[in-house]
Amino acid sequence: MTAIPPGSTIGILGSGQLGRMLAVAAAQLGYRCHIYAPESGPACDVAGGFTAGSYYETDLLAAFAKRCDVLTYEFENVPVEPLRALADFAPLRPGTRALEVAQDRAVEKAFARDNGGRTAPFALCNSREELDAALAETGTPAILKTLRLGYDGKGQARIMPGDDLDAAWDAVNGQPSIAEGFVTFAHEFSIMLVRGIDGATAHYPAPLNVHRGGILATSTVPAPALVLEQVDAAAALAAQLAAALDYVGVLTCEFFATADGPVFNEMAPRVHNSGHWTIEGAVTSQFENHIRAICGLPLGSTALTGTSVEMQNLIGDEANDWPAFLAEGDAHLHLYGKNEARPGRKMGHVTRVRR
Ligand code: AMP
Repeated sequence: MTAIPPGSTIGILGSGQLGRMLAVAAAQLGYRCHIYAPESGPACDVAGGFTAGSYYETDLLAAFAKRCDVLTYEFENVPVEPLRALADFAPLRPGTRALEVAQDRAVEKAFARDNGGRTAPFALCNSREELDAALAETGTPAILKTLRLGYDGKGQARIMPGDDLDAAWDAVNGQPSIAEGFVTFAHEFSIMLVRGIDGATAHYPAPLNVHRGGILATSTVPAPALVLEQVDAAAALAAQLAAALDYVGVLTCEFFATADGPVFNEMAPRVHNSGHWTIEGAVTSQFENHIRAICGLPLGSTALTGTSVEMQNLIGDEANDWPAFLAEGDAHLHLYGKNEARPGRKMGHVTRVRR
């Protein structure tokens, strides 16, 4: 397959901070990016072009795709159907199958299991009446999660034995959901795997991910020994999932490190917050490797540039401390240019690399 050379145009669906960091990496390699999203966002400030449009406006999407040489997406909730027609104009990498799997928690977990992965016990639940049966299958404690559109712990309810199930059902707004048995884990970690159009793969050292209030707070490399012991098995599953999807680009899989080995939690068909440390902490960042992969270029080294790296998310008001991060001198500050620091909103991050 021929490479899409520097100078070409990359179309990115989505205008968030992941698109921003992808566009910066693409620009460094001599590509232009054109963003398509319903609303302007952090990616638009650093891209060559922006089309504001709904993901259902097929004519506008087609006009966007015609001006691009390759298409990608920076978030997984892009509606799949309107994307299918775009293949006539430019390849979509990763493809639509990865979106279909990642958009539905039950499909995603079944897909991981079918490919040899271990998941929490889970049961579908389409109505309040089905919740009792679902919990009988998973046991309690359990977590009720909406099948679709949940992120950063939103659309979830924890259920302890004896809890009021009506309240739990209200917490997911009566949406089709899955109940998941609670996994007792020591740590959470992720695998960022990149797969080229020739099927070559590489993965980054796995970060230890610590969440606060359902939102990623820090990612640290190297992870503790228990995680390191489980990385090979987790990376093998990620590679298997990527191969099954004929995947091109960066695929992120999130895992729980348990006493019995890694348990797959979910996948994101994109670059990921837990990989932001790779910008300064790895030889080739996750963003550059995604661009390399979708353009058919050789993948870059995923090796660490230092002995340890920590990425700290700046959530809401935390970004106001930017002068202190700059004063550290060797901390790498990234601000996403969002004007309103709402609570829970990811405003930027700081990376510290120890040599
Ligand atoms: P998720 O949206 O699936 O990533 O869930 C958000 C967070 O909730 C995860 O990062 C975990 O900390 C926690 N969590 C999710 N599912 C489970 C589970 N089955 N057992 C224990 N903790 C979980």
